Amino acid sequence: MADTSSETYSFQAEIQQLLNILVHSLYTNREIFLRELISNASDALHRLQFEMLTRSDVLDADVELGVHIHADKDTGTLTITDTGIGMNRDELIQNLGTIAQSGAASFLQRLQETQDVPALDVIGQFGVGFYSVFMVADKVTVTSRSFRPDDEGWAWMSDGSSTYHIQPDDKTTRGTTITISLKEDAHEFLEPYRLRQIVKKHSDFIAFPITIGDEVANQQTAIWRRPARDVPDDDYNAFYKQLTLDFHDPLLHLHIASDAPVQFYSVLFIPEKADRGILSLRTDHGLKLYARKVLIQDYNKDFLPNYLRFMDGVVDSEDLPLNVARESIQTTRTIKRIGMSIKGKILGELERLANDEPDRYLAFWQEFGVFVKEGIATEAGDAERLSHLLRFHSSLSDGETPTVALNDYVSRMKDDQEHIYYVLADNVRSAAHSPHLDTFHARDYEVLYLTDTVDSFLLMNLSEYDNKPLRNVDDAGLELPDIEPGDESAAPRLEEEPFEAVRRRFADVLGERVTGVRESHMLTENPVRLVTPEGQLDRNVQRVYRMLDQDFEVPKKNLELNRRHPLIHNLSVLLQTDAEAEIIDQTIEQLYENALLVDGIHPNPAAMVARIHKLMELATRRSE
Ligand code: ADP
Ligand code: MG
Repeated sequence: MADTSSETYSFQAEIQQLLNILVHSLYTNREIFLRELISNASDALHRLQFEMLTRSDVLDADVELGVHIHADKDTGTLTITDTGIGMNRDELIQNLGTIAQSGAASFLQRLQETQDVPALDVIGQFGVGFYSVFMVADKVTVTSRSFRPDDEGWAWMSDGSSTYHIQPDDKTTRGTTITISLKEDAHEFLEPYRLRQIVKKHSDFIAFPITIGDEVANQQTAIWRRPARDVPDDDYNAFYKQLTLDFHDPLLHLHIASDAPVQFYSVLFIPEKADRGILSLRTDHGLKLYARKVLIQDYNKDFLPNYLRFMDGVVDSEDLPLNVARESIQTTRTIKRIGMSIKGKILGELERLANDEPDRYLAFWQEFGVFVKEGIATEAGDAERLSHLLRFHSSLSDGETPTVALNDYVSRMKDDQEHIYYVLADNVRSAAHSPHLDTFHARDYEVLYLTDTVDSFLLMNLSEYDNKPLRNVDDAGLELPDIEPGDESAAPRLEEEPFEAVRRRFADVLGERVTGVRESHMLTENPVRLVTPEGQLDRNVQRVYRMLDQDFEVPKKNLELNRRHPLIHNLSVLLQTDAEAEIIDQTIEQLYENALLVDGIHPNPAAMVARIHKLMELATRRSE
């Protein structure tokens, strides 16, 4: 009779391919199949808990929630039983035969691309973790009964070839049992000590009891509910790794237990690397949210501002209403309060790190500094607090890592200095060579180098620090009194009349491309520079536009000339003796483009080569 109701189905093509690989796999770390099955059992238990929040018609409502592992050496079978949500006939077909096809396809692609072994380790991330059981199984039977009282029991069977069978089963209890006929070479997984070892290693923090024989094998107490002083660092690290599958320890962890105004527990982590790549179990950002130990959401984004999305961890609150629906979570006041509290703790911890452990802080900054900057740009309310965390390169620093805090800068300011000066550039090297820095070098004023794209956005919410306004060194309104060069041999300033002639020639040649040409009071080493007229978009924003837009139009700027520079002197002499000389206008053009280049706004630097050749030709002409 059972035979007549047994139906045979083919797996989807991608799943067949995947099974073929898994069945023949020589992967040495096969033990992860147990992690995957336990993780599915745990999901099923969490989902049942969630259903029980809102409905009372649940099969076996009083049965204990847990996972049981049983090994039978005589028959060579391993069974894993859970009392979770279970599956009916359609769900078995959907979940274990069909729905995973896209996951299977991307997982296959990943295997192909990398050929590396750890890929199999992260099979769970692709939504096909269940099939890893075929690395160790000759045959797998899944019998299941849904939590819905009207559904019947069903069995799903496969030997990992291209088909599976479905038939009714007389299972009377809620949940799922997976019976595995182990391959001849996989009998190690019948040894209780080995099973305990695997559970301890991969599934220690599963929130439900996992029993092997009569013993509970996992520590189970949620780590965040233990008193922080009782939790060794190793446990935090192990929990972090089980949560994320990151191979590295986290950079730091934070454990919060709060009684008032809201009661909640939280364990949070900053990863070591911002980019954990594809080898992460976490496929999205957000915190795991539990309400009274029940998992409500895997990726809650309502607690923390977006710029803190690099945080991983768990929040568990007694104060959330139990009937909380997933959609309505963000509207509750409780969430807001918890969010405020953990944000404060995170920022406090970063401040502590910056003060007490500068080296570790710089390691954090290298990876996550750009998030802090984003925070200043996007959350005006947090900008002041975050500004203390900033680190920059400056004219007084060296090395790869930006180390200068605004606080350091202020403490080094000269007595007569009122502003914090910065230069925007593409990178540290061009910042260091910027003509805008001439006068600052001469005065021994420190200048911050702002070289990240996000820096210009940051400046929108950071106009001062410690009551000292931040000023761009190319700001046209910036007037620092001229200083006489100490060096006696320095060229004198060009006289009024000849300078005016040079100035007019620049203005004629450049025409509409500049808003004006004028004398500079800031240049000492360089012949010219471009300054931003009042009210124009800041240069870094212009640079972003240039990157985005091929037809970017070079913004009009004021050109400033250095009256002491030999090049300007030479041009003046030429104007008086040979005003028609070709080299005059070519030099003016080139000086203008050089200035665009050092400011990082030249639309097409390669186009200058032709003129440079021309200038070299003119310069070498007489030496024939
Ligand atoms: P994932 O867990 O990422 O969804 P899996 O391949 O591990 O992918 O599992 C596929 C699906 O099979 C699960 O999403 C779930 O719906 C179902 N499933 C697997 N094991 C169980 C179980 N023990 N109880 C209930 N459903 C399960
Ligand atoms: Mg799974």
